[in-house]
Amino acid sequence: MHVLKLGGTSVGSIASIKNVKQIVESRNEPVIVVVSALGGITDRLIATANKAAAGDKTFEQEFEFIRQRHFDVVNGLLDGEDLTAVKLFITGTLDELSNIYHGIYLIRELSAKTLCTVVSYGERISSRIIATVINGAKWVDSREIIKTVNVYGKNVCDFDATNPNVIGQFADHKGIAVMGGFISSDSKTGEVTNLGRGGSDYTAAIVAAALNAELLEIWTDVDGFMTADPRVINTAYVIPELSFVEAMELCNFGAKVIYPPTIFPVYHKNIPIVIKNTFNPDAPGTLIHANPKHVSGKFIKGISSINDTALVTISGLGMVGVTGVNKRIFSTLADNGISVFLVSQASSENSSTIGMKNGDADRAVEILRREFAKELEFGEINSITAEHDLATIAIVGERMKQTPGIAGKLFRILGQNGINVIACAQGASETNISFVTTKESLRKAINVIHDSFFLWDYNVLNIFLTGVGLVGRSLLEQIHKQQEYLLQHRNLKLCVVGLSNSRHCIFNRDGIDLATWEEQLNASTEPSTPEIIREKITEMNVFNAVFVDCTASAEIANIYESMLQHIGRLRELPPAEAHRPQTWHQISV
Ligand code: ASP
Ligand code: MG
Repeated sequence: MHVLKLGGTSVGSIASIKNVKQIVESRNEPVIVVVSALGGITDRLIATANKAAAGDKTFEQEFEFIRQRHFDVVNGLLDGEDLTAVKLFITGTLDELSNIYHGIYLIRELSAKTLCTVVSYGERISSRIIATVINGAKWVDSREIIKTVNVYGKNVCDFDATNPNVIGQFADHKGIAVMGGFISSDSKTGEVTNLGRGGSDYTAAIVAAALNAELLEIWTDVDGFMTADPRVINTAYVIPELSFVEAMELCNFGAKVIYPPTIFPVYHKNIPIVIKNTFNPDAPGTLIHANPKHVSGKFIKGISSINDTALVTISGLGMVGVTGVNKRIFSTLADNGISVFLVSQASSENSSTIGMKNGDADRAVEILRREFAKELEFGEINSITAEHDLATIAIVGERMKQTPGIAGKLFRILGQNGINVIACAQGASETNISFVTTKESLRKAINVIHDSFFLWDYNVLNIFLTGVGLVGRSLLEQIHKQQEYLLQHRNLKLCVVGLSNSRHCIFNRDGIDLATWEEQLNASTEPSTPEIIREKITEMNVFNAVFVDCTASAEIANIYESMLQHIGRLRELPPAEAHRPQTWHQISV
């Protein structure tokens, strides 16, 4: 038995549903298909409800959009009796929803319960559509199977009620069944609930675990987990295999590949998960299982990052040796619903630093100041402050465990590239080292880490060259001639990222094409002064950078010093890395 989860984009358009149909119908083993609402519909359902609650009559147009979207999809996929039947179902179901929206509009109120009912329509309808489109599929109502209980105001899966339901429904299952993800109902009251935004993955995991399925397949719109955020790192690549713990660490923040709670139920049953791309079904994807293959020499699997970070620091000499301070900090934050994702306390105990979302930091400072008002008054604690607009980066990999030198390497390359670490944390599980830096350093930091830990194939040297007279021009010619050779035979990628003469300059972080540098420079309208060059270089913040001055200008020489403060020194390769291709040593800018 395989459980397949089809995400919103996988069932978001006529073309993608056709892909999905093919993927599912070609199966030989019994499958249970768990589907999301059509891509973007959950957001629309919520927005429409909010409009109605605010007394905005245009909710009717929004509703019309939702209706039309579903009809467009079925009209493009079905015909004959199937089309008539499914249209009848959609019309009836959406009439119900329309009445609910009118009710919300009339009383101008939207309770959490009502919203749960409203959003459930997305999966109720999408699952019926997919069950009709896939030949021979049987539709199952998730609300009757997946049960929740309310714990501290949050609906969580009631496994005691759910597991027997799943087993009862699917024990003798053959062929194809389709059910909506995300939606559920309360064990006691029967009211419609859900498992939280993005919760369809979780539904699929719950079903797979209850049935001891062979495999949980998550069909989405990316090829799998990537070594780093591909929007930042264009050399990031798909990670073929991950352990459950590594996947958990990577999806916790940054990579939105799966909903984090999904991993738990299947991890306990040792059921592998595969991440597949509906739009590129032949790609192998990422396999998450208990014994992932390790690639020799690679100690980390991925880098996760978020830029929405603030640090709140509580410090004071009066905290030293006093028990209960941390307990009070965390209880206060938890009682106010503030989630913490990084904690760092020096062994001297005179300060605790806590990482959280930017949006929570000011409130956290306020409530902590209230909590510790006495200690602040008596000077036991002298400050509680927040630093905003930071970024958190984590390197993840189970092989870091008991491997000395990983943290050393990480912090050394950060230092060498002039990236300041504001706080850091490593749990004793040694599968994640996280650190906080400024938002501006995020791109550069991920680049240097990715380059050092993943791209064994080549090292990158980023060159800024000013002055294209005889010397500069000859150097560019040499670089151009040698680029391919150095890459192939010396694993060195020379990238000219900035060029200037006394009139103009050009910049390109991916490397300027040296076959046409002269035309590009002549065509540039960007004026060139030492200050502009310095500003631009600082702003680009590239790693492993070298500034080459081929001018005889004293003004250019005047900007050396301030530039040296920004451009990190090139790596000195230490003996521990002697097996890496060594292309240069100790070149300073
Ligand atoms: N439709 C729900 C959402 O968008 C659940 C899901 O897609 O996983 O959050
Ligand atoms: Mg979704």
